[in-house]
Amino acid sequence: MAGKACNVLITGANRGLGLEMVKQLLEMPCPNRKIFACCRDPSAPKSQGLQELAKKHPGVIHVIRLDTTDPRGVKEAAKQVGAIVGKSGLNLLVNNAAVLFNGTMQTTGVKEMQDAYNTNIIGPMLVTKEFLPYLCEAARSSGKMGMSCSRAAVINISTTLASISTVPEMFSNFPATPYRVTKAGLNMLTVCNSLEFKKDGVLFTLLHPGWVRTDMGTQAADIDAHESVRGMLRVMDSLTEKHNGAFLDYEGKPMPW
Ligand code: NDP
Repeated sequence: MAGKACNVLITGANRGLGLEMVKQLLEMPCPNRKIFACCRDPSAPKSQGLQELAKKHPGVIHVIRLDTTDPRGVKEAAKQVGAIVGKSGLNLLVNNAAVLFNGTMQTTGVKEMQDAYNTNIIGPMLVTKEFLPYLCEAARSSGKMGMSCSRAAVINISTTLASISTVPEMFSNFPATPYRVTKAGLNMLTVCNSLEFKKDGVLFTLLHPGWVRTDMGTQAADIDAHESVRGMLRVMDSLTEKHNGAFLDYEGKPMPW
């Protein structure tokens, strides 16, 4: 269960849904829990809320510098985390960090497309690759059978905008072509990973958080971060091998591909 996953790592944890996830995990009792709250600039003003939280929970929250697009930085972060978790490994990795570019193809340049690709696909790929040994270690050492977020899991945060089948209904309101293309790519990566690492007992699931009032979602969105994260953590709690490679929303409903 997410609430029972001892060692949890979240990317993009300094604001938005990532920070809310850190806050709600703190409220869920789990002995010896370690939360690796990763952000690309821990000393920036935008990371101050996370730093204050970490000061109140020493030994539980570890703030780790992690720009998901920087291969050397990801390796360095993995070393730091590995030294702390030791033989218990990492139970839950949440690939949450992402960027949204709103343009259509005509208004999108090569650089924006590459940046979206780097953050939304290569980022989760690099992070998953570097942390996978710790996830496999957790799967082995947990003493648990089957698949679950309390044993070893990667949750990739996707979006309804990644659903190819709903583009005709939604495109005129939300074109966001670079975001749609790259999040659809993340969906494919996740399904491939769910098969590649099934033998290791590592669960891979995609979650859509709803349309949420964050910097990315804007104040016009449907729900607040608290409701979205409460829902996603509940869904994480319910995941089993049946959900390996699944795409669900924050209420646990299957999302259209
Ligand atoms: P925000 O824009 O509020 O926060 C994005 C987070 O990602 C920030 O912490 C940001 O860090 C981080 N980030 C971006 N690029 C990188 C990078 N290269 N390395 C490390 N961190 C990075 O977004 P949300 O909290 O709303 O979104 C969280 C997730 O939910 C995303 O995957 C998003 O696609 C998904 N989602 C959100 C929806 C919504 O309505 N809000 C709807 C559907 C999906 P920094 O502060 O340094 O920029």
